[in-house]
Amino acid sequence: MADRQSAILARRLVELLGEDAVLHRPEDVIVYEYDYGLDRAAPEAVAFPRTTAEVASIVKVARSLELPIVARGAGTGISGGAIPVQGGVVIALSRMNHILDVDPANRIAVVEPGVVNLNISKAVEPLGLFFAPDPSSQKASTIGGNVGNNAGGPHCLAHGTTTNHILGVELVLPSGSVVELGGISKDGPGYDLTGLVVGAEGTVGIVTRVTVQLMIEPPAVKTALAIFTSVEDASAAVSGIIGQGIIPSALELMDGLALRAIEAAFHAGYPPDAGAVLLVELDGLDESVTEQTQVVEKVCHDNHAVEIRVADTPEARAKLWAARKGAASAMGRIAPNYYLHDTVIARTRLPGVLADVIAIGERHNLPIANLFHAGDGNLHPMILFDVREQGVLGRVMQAGREILDASVAAGGTISGEHGIGMEKNQFMPKIFSEADLEVMARVRAAFDPTGLCNPGKVFPTPTSCHDTAIRPRAAVAPGHPELWI
Ligand SMILES: Cc1cc2nc3c(=O)[nH]c(=O)nc-3n(C[C@H](O)[C@H](O)[C@H](O)COP(=O)(O)OP(=O)(O)OC[C@H]3O[C@@H](n4cnc5c(N)ncnc54)[C@H](O)[C@@H]3O)c2cc1C
Repeated sequence: MADRQSAILARRLVELLGEDAVLHRPEDVIVYEYDYGLDRAAPEAVAFPRTTAEVASIVKVARSLELPIVARGAGTGISGGAIPVQGGVVIALSRMNHILDVDPANRIAVVEPGVVNLNISKAVEPLGLFFAPDPSSQKASTIGGNVGNNAGGPHCLAHGTTTNHILGVELVLPSGSVVELGGISKDGPGYDLTGLVVGAEGTVGIVTRVTVQLMIEPPAVKTALAIFTSVEDASAAVSGIIGQGIIPSALELMDGLALRAIEAAFHAGYPPDAGAVLLVELDGLDESVTEQTQVVEKVCHDNHAVEIRVADTPEARAKLWAARKGAASAMGRIAPNYYLHDTVIARTRLPGVLADVIAIGERHNLPIANLFHAGDGNLHPMILFDVREQGVLGRVMQAGREILDASVAAGGTISGEHGIGMEKNQFMPKIFSEADLEVMARVRAAFDPTGLCNPGKVFPTPTSCHDTAIRPRAAVAPGHPELWI
């Protein structure tokens, strides 16, 4: 029966979009079962629309067959948001990748959802403008996915996350009708439905067009690398800098384990023998940047920085950032697999929670590298492991749960920017009451009464997230039936 329905789905999608815009053979759709995290599940079909009208038609076909729809950008979300956990159609927006309009006078661009984040800034750079949200995945991740997860990034400390830079969206509702939310100005009347769509992880509809706010390139930028012997000193300096009333445009922390891998991979000038470093970027008017750099240097010295290096050329800055933003790939030098977490705590709790993270790693005999957006208190512990080691995944998952618990116990939350997806939905009751979740579920139902728009995400499911019952198509690592890798 399911096979027959899959065949009908494939035939109808091909009729609608053409052979070259639909994948339905198991060996083809398997590529869409993964989003950089631990979970996997393949769809019945993947459709590649080129227009909003095609997206609406795909949604209507899926609806008529009572099948789920799941929006997909670049599939770098990590938390399983783009994974079709209950099968159905993945709507891959990669062909809707055009910048439709740039209005420099009003600092606005209108883009399709499949535009890669960095391509917006590249396109408007000659105009002295940029798009501020800069996830480390910005060379690959799409604006649709950034909206879905309300992406942050190193430079979101001063400028705010994606939600602060989206003025409006066009949305195909789960019914197949199309609505325009927001517009070209901020703070319009009525409910902030654009704000609701940002961070909804594709559960209220498919975004088919985005109006983004652009920012003016600052006249002066300074990037400093402060070197410490311990993570405790570096994290105390983070609170110290913000405590001085300075909000750097970026304030990133990398611990010793991360540094050694990053430097071996990128040769960017990071000190491999340090306990931790802070990468601090200040921007604004020349005078204030110079003044603030002096304050940052003093705070770092007060917190026992052994050395502070200021990158004095754009090339030196770019090298430091390329290494930081490519850091995840360098972890392969330590272990073949990693499980990246994403919790948020108050900056002042950094030393305590980082000590907890280190203890968790030791308890489970797992190396954990830390490189994260320290200014936001957004931790990214990377649990490093080798999936070929029998039974290791149980330890990895347990360590992950303990990191979430430690963050929540410190008054923090379970995701800063990667979303909840299917990775952390069962942890939502740790931070929301039943009444909170019910209100959110009712809002979602107003958009998606059938619950077929990215089901199994964000909200706790009746079964555990890591229960095979909700993963009908999950892949199993060869030779390791217990591993969902
Ligand atoms: C190495 C690495 C570094 C990263 N660094 C950061 C970082 O610094 N900051 C950060 O915030 N994140 C980071 N991420 C996570 C991830 O890249 C971001 O969340 C990004 O926004 C996801 O974009 P994507 O196009 O890959 O979306 P996908 O993974 O394809 O989708 C993400 C979610 O958005 C939904 N979605 C996608 N497109 C649409 C659409 N058109 N309409 C409605 N919903 C949609 C999906 O259904 C899913 O729920 C990183 C990931 C990796 C692998």
